[in-house]
Amino acid sequence: MGSCKSPQEDEQKKPRPDCTCKGVIVHGPIIVGAGPSGLAASACLSELGVPSLILERSDCIASLWQHKTYDRLKLHLPKNFCELPYLKFPEDFPKYPTKHQFISYMESYAARFSIRPRFNQAVLGASFEDGLWRVRTHELVYVSRWLIVATGENAEPVIPDIAGLEKFGGRIIHTSSYKSGSDFRNQKVLVMGCGNSGMEVSLDLCRNNAVPHMVVRNTVHVLPREMFGFSTFGIAMGLLKWLPLKLVDKFLLLAANITLGNTDQLGLRRPKTGPTELKNVTGKTPVLDVGALSQIRSGKIKVTEGVKEIMKTGAKFMDGQEEEFDAIILATGYKSNVNSWLKSGEFFTKEGMPKIPFPNGWRGENGLYKVGFTRRGLLGAACDAIKIAQDIAEQWRSVKHQHRNILYDSHKIRVQKS
Ligand SMILES: Cc1cc2nc3c(=O)[nH]c(=O)nc-3n(C[C@H](O)[C@H](O)[C@H](O)COP(=O)(O)OP(=O)(O)OC[C@H]3O[C@@H](n4cnc5c(N)ncnc54)[C@H](O)[C@@H]3O)c2cc1C
Repeated sequence: MGSCKSPQEDEQKKPRPDCTCKGVIVHGPIIVGAGPSGLAASACLSELGVPSLILERSDCIASLWQHKTYDRLKLHLPKNFCELPYLKFPEDFPKYPTKHQFISYMESYAARFSIRPRFNQAVLGASFEDGLWRVRTHELVYVSRWLIVATGENAEPVIPDIAGLEKFGGRIIHTSSYKSGSDFRNQKVLVMGCGNSGMEVSLDLCRNNAVPHMVVRNTVHVLPREMFGFSTFGIAMGLLKWLPLKLVDKFLLLAANITLGNTDQLGLRRPKTGPTELKNVTGKTPVLDVGALSQIRSGKIKVTEGVKEIMKTGAKFMDGQEEEFDAIILATGYKSNVNSWLKSGEFFTKEGMPKIPFPNGWRGENGLYKVGFTRRGLLGAACDAIKIAQDIAEQWRSVKHQHRNILYDSHKIRVQKS
């Protein structure tokens, strides 16, 4: 898939500044990002007979999963909620596949649809000029009528301003570089952040005889991963089909209180807004507990309120207490990078998220689309991918025959042969 030649072949033909060639035509859409969303979009297009080309900055598919996640990670949601279109997870995979199983599923997915992204192609700029999208990497300018943004909600780590962080003498890493608690054995570690990553990293540290102190600055909803033998996510999705959101939230919180007890007493204050409503309004995902709460209860994970400042050997907390630490792990989340490369005007907010929320935000103007910015994980990406492919396939059929000639004549662009 993707009318694409090897980088070596293209090397000789790189457009120089004085070159009359203005780029490489891609027959079909250009997709930026070879994560699950980009692969899903490419597969759905392929099923409808539309070729596409994926440009990926990394050296592999699903690079977030391959390079930026910890060893012990499992899917947070049951596998049936994480499937991409047209391919189920293998029967023998557990309900919550490991990260390695998920990566092997992604590899089978790419193979099944003959998706061959062009790797090491970080997109540096994309703009719509003279009726076409021009997508620039350090090597080439790729040109197409359609551009699908699939660079993800988690493209770059968020490193917040924390007073004194630069003074700290020990190791500081973001969770995107954290692999295993075995690297921190017998160390006292300050984990800043209490979302799913902060909780799971703290648990992993505990299991490797490190002593995590988890900083909880904001309110947080912690729910059990399963209730009464069913996944909490599945229960919520089922109930939402019949009941109003507020009632579903009441039920979830009641069940969470029965199974987990009062989390406020552990220093994890719940927000006033219920978990589903909060997710819809702000995109903030509830933490699905996989064992951290019992370690908090037993005192193996210490919960602390905000940090006032970081010092050379440790941290000073809001209550004036000081504590020494060997390392700091920033579980401070991720952000989109769309605005650093896409010149698109209206489609994205200044945070690089779609202005129009799910389920209607997948299509912009002038052949611009986005997949996987729904704050609904892989399920949301799958929904976007199907709709985008249908929309582009309709246009593809009508322009297919004129496409090459029009571009070639009016833009003097080098045609890339399949
Ligand atoms: C730790 C963790 C666990 C998660 N668990 C689940 C789960 O269990 N279930 C679920 O549904 N969701 C889960 N999610 C949320 C979400 O589904 C995943 O983040 C998923 O990987 C999103 O896929 P994506 O393709 O949209 O983005 P990504 O996987 O981030 O892929 C985007 C790709 O774009 C590339 N890219 C970025 N910028 C550029 C550029 N300028 N040029 C070229 N390429 C670029 C990146 O290198 C990357 O390969 C999890 C997220 C995280 C962080």
